[in-house]
Amino acid sequence: MLHPKNERTLVVIKPDGVERSLVGEIIRRFERVGLKIVAMKMLVADQEFVKAHYTLDSGWMKGVGEKSIKAYIDQGKKHPISDDPLAVAEVILRKLRSYITAGPVVAMVIEGAHAVKIVRKLVGSTEPLSSDVGTIRGDFVLDSYEMSDLDDRSIRNLIHASGSVAEAKREIAHWFKPDEIIEYRHVQEEILYGPNLDDVLG
Ligand code: GDP
Ligand code: MG
Repeated sequence: MLHPKNERTLVVIKPDGVERSLVGEIIRRFERVGLKIVAMKMLVADQEFVKAHYTLDSGWMKGVGEKSIKAYIDQGKKHPISDDPLAVAEVILRKLRSYITAGPVVAMVIEGAHAVKIVRKLVGSTEPLSSDVGTIRGDFVLDSYEMSDLDDRSIRNLIHASGSVAEAKREIAHWFKPDEIIEYRHVQEEILYGPNLDDVLG
């Protein structure tokens, strides 16, 4: 079994994060918790690449459609597009493709204990309107499903982060070649993960 400290996740700072000069602030939040960047690059993605990214998981379309419909039901409203999750997901994917390709993105692989869950916790929930204060989405952006649907665009939430270990594995392989990922040791790993601290006082 993989030790939890070696877990990896994919993070992509979306074009709105780059445009708003939040690259440093976002990376700072992952670094300060103790996570390690093992790969990083800036690129402009094309539409096919973005479609492939979001459909790596065959269940994503249904899930994102259901999530969107539920957000309306929770407010006692009917979804403006359809009651069919797949029809809703098709529209979300079309908007996502133009959002993510609108400018440069910064993609990175982040490694460390429970990287997938820790990063998702720091990123916050999908809709900035309800993301917790203290999370990246809660602290730096104010978009909502209502506003993005009204304006026929994707919800702008600064960042993508893998949702599960299996998703991370597929996404990392989609964005990075194996030789773009660097294996190295951080000096702080001893204090984060070492089984005892006997050496600290020499
Ligand atoms: P994430 O894992 O929190 O990023 O959320 P998902 O994987 O469910 O959705 C991927 C991205 O699609 C989100 O980050 C949003 O940018 C966008 N998105 C998801 N659901 C909706 C929606 O209901 N409406 C709109 N306009 N955009 C959405
Ligand atoms: Mg997701």
